[in-house]
Amino acid sequence: MLIVPESLIGGLVSPEDAFAAVEATFAAMSRGDAYNFPVVREALGEGRQYGFKSGLDRSGGQLGVKAGGYFPGNAAKGIINHQSTVFLFDPETGQPTAMVGGGLLTALRTAAASAISIDRLARADARVLGMVGAGHQAGFQLRAAARVRSFERVIAWNLHPEMLDRLGAVAAELGLPFEAVPLERMREADVIVTITSSPAASLLDAHVSAGTHLACMGTDTKGKQEVEPALLGRAAVFTDEVAQSVSIGEAQHAVAAGLLGPEAITPLGDVLTGAHPGRKTAEEITLFDGTGVGLQDLAVAAMAVRRAQERGEGISVAL
Ligand code: NAD
Repeated sequence: MLIVPESLIGGLVSPEDAFAAVEATFAAMSRGDAYNFPVVREALGEGRQYGFKSGLDRSGGQLGVKAGGYFPGNAAKGIINHQSTVFLFDPETGQPTAMVGGGLLTALRTAAASAISIDRLARADARVLGMVGAGHQAGFQLRAAARVRSFERVIAWNLHPEMLDRLGAVAAELGLPFEAVPLERMREADVIVTITSSPAASLLDAHVSAGTHLACMGTDTKGKQEVEPALLGRAAVFTDEVAQSVSIGEAQHAVAAGLLGPEAITPLGDVLTGAHPGRKTAEEITLFDGTGVGLQDLAVAAMAVRRAQERGEGISVAL
């Protein structure tokens, strides 16, 4: 098997690669060629979470698992809060083929999913990007969003305002004016990305204008919540995978409150394959509930492995 360490990933997989790989994966899921196995996610106490996301993509020839979790105390130790490793196996024999550092890949594949939703569901004339959250993932999200729409400015809110400077620096790098705003001013945004580890809604229904597209990316576990359930009640809701959306995604709260039924949630892959038209009117609010599926991880990890093999990089070991 090939070990592809975290330190090599940045040189092997670009944000554009991740976008293409995740798009292909969502489309394969929609066609029924790929499916995710049930997620295992355990609370370890003191806010630590650990779990396994896995799946099989017959079209891409990928079988594997991402083992990883969220450790909120890590930042104080100088390491990122998300820690993960992807393991790939030969789908015909079950033999392990690769072990791949999953930190950067997670950020790239998560930002790619969000950007695909913006690309396919936001209004073409979207000019103001709203960011809710300013942690490790937020910069990747901002960069990926800026690739798919011609934004003219960025407005941002974070519970911990001192973290906003770092996000502002990313906006400056992209040449975008950046302003820290109260949540009420998210009404100015055409696209809003939420990427926090919040346990309760920050963004309320009244903070969102008609015609907005939201990419809700932070809620990936039971008990997390970023937006008011009423917002999902009035939005056209899309997701990576419905089973995850209703159980560990943002939709868990709206479904529990009886404001949204699982049958009303559309897989984003259906928009990619043309099975669903996507946004129907300029006034519609569209909301992508990005829960993060194992197949996304396998797709970008497989790409990293292919590139490493082509270039003779990585460490080959026999188990
Ligand atoms: P981080 O720890 O670097 O940042 C956490 C962010 O949440 C910060 O902006 C912080 O200010 C904010 N926050 C913390 N407590 C809050 C509260 N009570 N209310 C509102 N905001 C609060 O985390 P990160 O790596 O940027 O990840 C952010 C979230 O995204 C996490 O919940 C993580 O699990 C999730 N995530 C989802 C996917 C996916 O595929 N959907 C992938 C990776 C990460």
